[in-house]
Amino acid sequence: MPIANSQLHVSDISPLIVQSEIRAMSVECDRVGGINLAQGVCDTDLPDFVADAAIKAIQQGHNIYTRLDGIESLRQAIAAKLERYNGISADPDSEVLVTSGATGALYAASLALLNPGDEVILFEPFYGYHVNTLLSLRVQPIPVSLTAPDWKLDLDALRSAITSRTRAIIVNTPCNPSGKVFHLDELRAIADLAIQHDLFVFTDEIYEYFLFDGTRHISMATLPGMAERTITISGLSKTFSITGWRIGYLTASRQWIPSIGYFHDLTYVCSPSPFQHGAAAGLVELPDSFYAELSTEYQQKRDQLCSALADAGLAPSIPEGAYYVLADASRVPGETAHKKARHLLAATGVAAVAGSAFFTQGRGENILRFCFGKKPEDLDRACAALRSL
Ligand code: PLP
Repeated sequence: MPIANSQLHVSDISPLIVQSEIRAMSVECDRVGGINLAQGVCDTDLPDFVADAAIKAIQQGHNIYTRLDGIESLRQAIAAKLERYNGISADPDSEVLVTSGATGALYAASLALLNPGDEVILFEPFYGYHVNTLLSLRVQPIPVSLTAPDWKLDLDALRSAITSRTRAIIVNTPCNPSGKVFHLDELRAIADLAIQHDLFVFTDEIYEYFLFDGTRHISMATLPGMAERTITISGLSKTFSITGWRIGYLTASRQWIPSIGYFHDLTYVCSPSPFQHGAAAGLVELPDSFYAELSTEYQQKRDQLCSALADAGLAPSIPEGAYYVLADASRVPGETAHKKARHLLAATGVAAVAGSAFFTQGRGENILRFCFGKKPEDLDRACAALRSL
């Protein structure tokens, strides 16, 4: 279904259900015994004491609903981390909300702060859940295109996407799927427009510790005038490799927290109680070196995969952060990215995601997304197989 004026509509939701595309590739990959570089689940081993703290919490009876904003020790640990790493001062009692993953945070914030018919700008290529969250609430996503290889902000395009109906801008940094990290000048330009047009900025900073080549993560909320209008979203799914635990959080001005908390309670009730205890232990006890090693380890994985892709003739756009790489799949047979992904799986045993899942309709058809958040032995096998293409 073509998209008029590059706007997406609720009726376009099914082709955009990116997660189902990733799941479908994963099922197909399992069926043929392939190597799954489609799914964005990192395979880093969870530190034992984090799991032990969750198990102990179950044994000690922390098995019931928590306060709707999360347990106190976790809110305090998040506030301390926000201060230390992000430079954001947040009161753990009134400005931090523990959520069911970053997904639950964006959903609850959108329910609380957006209305049907509002427009929200996001950058393309985008993370499908962001688009689908908006569409499910009858909010109109307005994609602003960024172009490979550096995905630089197109300020004119952003400016002209703003209308009287625009209510917010979503900034995902580092970004899934492009690996783009928004730099200070770009964040400042977005902030200026947000202030000028009185917009919210929702940031998704879930990959904030996956940074390469010395790139720095900057939180939008630290820019002048932005603390009041930024909803900063992150979580531990990726940092601790606990995507199934559903531990995310957001911080925002205290004027927004009660209504966001109300909608989070309504949709998710609370983040799982024992896992909140495990996450708090991890945040309190893990040394800074744990986070620094993530970047070192994932940068090596990025380099390994990008060099295999280049050798295979699938030119990669080198990511500055997160753990995905978009590659040019022009040389893989198939008229669509979907068919190319299936061809690649059949030819090499490596599963990737069709690039079309991250773009408005008709774009991304020559692109495949690969995830390098994988165990070394799996990445070795995948790279060898790709080189045989
Ligand atoms: N945000 C982005 C950009 C992601 O890529 C993902 C997962 O792939 C999520 C959020 C999901 O985070 P969570 O598990 O905390 O809901």
